[in-house]
Amino acid sequence: MRRILVTGGAGFIGSHLCKRLLDEGNEVVCLDNFSTGSRKNIQPLLAHPYFELLTHDIAVPLTLEADRIFHLASPASPVRYQHQPVMTVRTNVLGSLTALEIARATGATILQASTSEIYGDPEVHPQVESYWGNVNPIGPRSCYDEGKRCAETLFFDYRRQYGIKIKVARIFNTYGPLMAADDGRVVSNFIVQALRGDDITLYGDGSQTRSFCYVADMIDGLLRLMDTGPDFTGPVNLGDPHEATMRELAETILRLTGSRSHLAFKPLPKDDPKRRCPDITLAKKELGWRPTTSFEEGLTATIDHFRKLL
Ligand code: NAD
Ligand code: UDP
Repeated sequence: MRRILVTGGAGFIGSHLCKRLLDEGNEVVCLDNFSTGSRKNIQPLLAHPYFELLTHDIAVPLTLEADRIFHLASPASPVRYQHQPVMTVRTNVLGSLTALEIARATGATILQASTSEIYGDPEVHPQVESYWGNVNPIGPRSCYDEGKRCAETLFFDYRRQYGIKIKVARIFNTYGPLMAADDGRVVSNFIVQALRGDDITLYGDGSQTRSFCYVADMIDGLLRLMDTGPDFTGPVNLGDPHEATMRELAETILRLTGSRSHLAFKPLPKDDPKRRCPDITLAKKELGWRPTTSFEEGLTATIDHFRKLL
């Protein structure tokens, strides 16, 4: 049995990961400060004999025993991470230092939940891992983008300087059940608006694209990455190459929910990336991974989740 630390374990992806790790017979320590996560997400896990909850801010150093670390603690929704930008940088930089120090002290392999935001508003399409990105260092998204970029730097410097075993996943837009209804990200916003009969808030003209990966596929990719040999560090893109405009997303959700909501066009937020799509050649080769859940299948499961929630 492995003892696995999941920072940010009460969040959307983290809670799915904790459940899967418990189901596979591991001992799980979930560390979270509940800034964007929720106790409800982990409520069903609390009674499990091998689940431990640690309420803690990852930016504050601590020591504990672990064989493996999934480092997910960070706000992920643009609305949430821009609400307290200094906290976002602090979490990503100091939080990564804390997590890396635990890995250094214990010899644990540590996986960083990095992001497609590393590529900023990309000039290379689809995005390959060798692309260095097009990121504004002083804009409203920078606290997250640059925080995550600095975290990647720290991961590779800890490997170079201390020989730490690292894995870096560049996660593209992920969606599914257990997303928070008030999270502010596009999939949850549109579904909640459609189910309530409210206007669908489409930013800009809706021609910007994203590529959405269903959460079960993402968890599978993260676990496969953690299981790779010590020489494979990544960064590796994890995401679904199925690319859609935000207008197409809105129309699909309207169709699947049977909603009569109307589209309401709102200003495009500053520095909003125009297009985003992962090249997953490396993940296919090194992890034998590719998403298997179709967009409609994943959206239907997510809509069911929100119907119950609302
Ligand atoms: P989330 O907001 O649902 O989960 C993040 C969790 O981290 C929350 O439970 C939150 O309370 C916790 N957290 C935040 N700051 C903390 C701190 N200082 N100390 C302890 N815990 C803290 O977001 P998510 O979608 O589950 O994302 C998880 C990770 O994956 C994040 O690192 C995010 O950057 C990354 N990621 C997610 C996506 C996506 O589309 N969901 C895309 C790219 C990267
Ligand atoms: N978006 C939108 N309406 C919303 C929320 C988001 O049109 O209510 C757009 C947003 O401008 C962006 C895309 O949807 O182009 C994805 O936004 P999200 O906040 O989910 O994540 P991002 O990929 O930008 O980090």
